[in-house]
Amino acid sequence: MLVSRRYSKITEKLTVPIRTQSDQPRKMPKHIFLKAVALLVLTLCALDQEALAQRSSRPARITPPVTIQAVQPEIAYAVSMSRPATHLLEVEMRVKWRAMPDQVDLKMPVWTPGSYLIREYSRHVQQFSATSPAGAALAWRKTSKNTWQVDTKGVSELVARYVVYSNELTVRTNELNDEHAFWNNTALLMFVKGQLAASPTIAVRPFGNWKVATGLPAVDGQTNTFRAENFDVLYDAPFEVSNFTEFAFDAQGKRHRYVITGEGNYDPARLSADTKKIVEATYKIFGELPYNDYTFIVNLRGGGGLEHLNSTALQVSRFGFKPDSRYKNFLGLVAHEFFHVYNVKRIRPDALGPFDYENENYTRLLWVAEGATEYYSNLLLVRAGLVSPAEFLLQRSAGISALGQRPGRFETSLEDASFDAWIKYYRQDENSVNNQISYYDKGEIVSMMLDISIRSATAGAKSLDDVMRYLYVEFFKKNRNFTDADFQKACEIIAGRSMDDFFAKYVRGKAEIDYNSFLSGIGLQLYSDPASADRAYFGLDTLEEGAGLRIRTVTAGKPAYEQGLNTGDVIVAIDGYRATQAFLQSYLGERKVGDKVKLTLFRYDKLREFEITASADNRKGYSIIPLEAATEAQRSLLKQYLNADLK
Ligand SMILES: [Zn+2]
Repeated sequence: MLVSRRYSKITEKLTVPIRTQSDQPRKMPKHIFLKAVALLVLTLCALDQEALAQRSSRPARITPPVTIQAVQPEIAYAVSMSRPATHLLEVEMRVKWRAMPDQVDLKMPVWTPGSYLIREYSRHVQQFSATSPAGAALAWRKTSKNTWQVDTKGVSELVARYVVYSNELTVRTNELNDEHAFWNNTALLMFVKGQLAASPTIAVRPFGNWKVATGLPAVDGQTNTFRAENFDVLYDAPFEVSNFTEFAFDAQGKRHRYVITGEGNYDPARLSADTKKIVEATYKIFGELPYNDYTFIVNLRGGGGLEHLNSTALQVSRFGFKPDSRYKNFLGLVAHEFFHVYNVKRIRPDALGPFDYENENYTRLLWVAEGATEYYSNLLLVRAGLVSPAEFLLQRSAGISALGQRPGRFETSLEDASFDAWIKYYRQDENSVNNQISYYDKGEIVSMMLDISIRSATAGAKSLDDVMRYLYVEFFKKNRNFTDADFQKACEIIAGRSMDDFFAKYVRGKAEIDYNSFLSGIGLQLYSDPASADRAYFGLDTLEEGAGLRIRTVTAGKPAYEQGLNTGDVIVAIDGYRATQAFLQSYLGERKVGDKVKLTLFRYDKLREFEITASADNRKGYSIIPLEAATEAQRSLLKQYLNADLK
């Protein structure tokens, strides 16, 4: 916090993360920091006095200003792809440095912001070499998994060359093949230890006649060359290089473009019009678009999205734009990543920027970064008229039903799930349902309840929009990150009352959410279907595999779990009949509560038999429906919330 605030005065006008001189500014002990500030103040005073003395006693002379820039290296990358079929992206990194030390550590990031898992990008680096500009070899050695230490004594410029194996298309990795190149700079470009404030350039040498797309600004007069103002900006910007299709639209006077690689069943005109509605709906919350231009990079394979400062990388199946239900899913993804322009890329939780690229960056706020973003992505679609209020409520009901079936909701809080994302969220296993919740899914539901409770508490005068705007103005605009305490405080300021009970139960705690206490405020209620309790239930989740059914998960508290079945067991017969998915569904569906079935299964390599007794199916399916006899005040709050009338 203190370190960030140091820069608040000089950086208020900037719209991107500010990188300090140090890699890990937050780790500077307070007393050292205070000494450094004192020294800086003294130095500035001394300079001031010297300047005064110069003005009074000597003729004016032009002296170059002493800036941080002078001691920073000039770093220039060139990325080539001469043999796409090899999946090898070729990198040349030139480090020109007046203050070149005797040894330079070049480092690969181990993760990429927005995807909270150590991914060890250095494992794909090969053919590393280091030379002087004239080609004289420089000695080097690996000193850690992601550090190449080069002997640079006597040279003022270091040229490092390496290739990176790139054959994994996800939004956080790299792919090069004969159709395109897509990469994240975190997974491709090394940095110089301690020099993340440097402003690098990156020149792309495309294969054949491929075009280059990125959110980074181009360097005038240099083909396919871009500059980042610091490494947080460099590492934020993905590249797509291919014969992509490009189309653009303007919103609030700013250019937005789609860059799509691959053929698919999308309609450029409709996609532009609908995305513009999403951009406009988001603009209405914050009152500004904090970028010069915005690029939606889409690959028509894989799935998912990753947020960036003025771009996003999206992946969807090439025929994922029809029918309408799938198209709406894609628009939801667009809205999610676009809302991140504000929430997480600029409204930044404590540890998320400037980033430490070599270690986990812990925060208890991913439920706000991701859960609230997911909530808004759906709300924005309603506000943009792309999804109906009824569809919105149906989806939220499904989310509430799914959370209610996870025993893990009593094991892990939203804050804990956020903090442990690094070891759990991207490493789901068969036990996750029993000991975890998703900070996306529960975060979305809790954000909705938070929004509704603020609307109720203020009779509709305020909402979660005001909290987001408050964070944008009070934190991003003042170049501060926010803490979990700041977030609660912001909600309380907007709601005009304490929300400690809410945060203690649903954010820090693991209490069952009392949905109706919130929904009733806006004339809605959660309704559960009473009929399901008569059905027999075994609690088996299976996948057809070879000649049997492999058990994928066993839910704690249900018959399969309580009576000894394991994930990985392969059921080959049910009451003596061949086990198939269709048979399992129809046969078990006819059983009554208390009936027994004999399961013959392989556990590892041994044939076993289990007799399982069915229990009642206590799983609840929920729907959100109008409250009977809602008051006029409740009706008007709902109207304001979803532009919907109670029927
Ligand atoms: Zn997200």
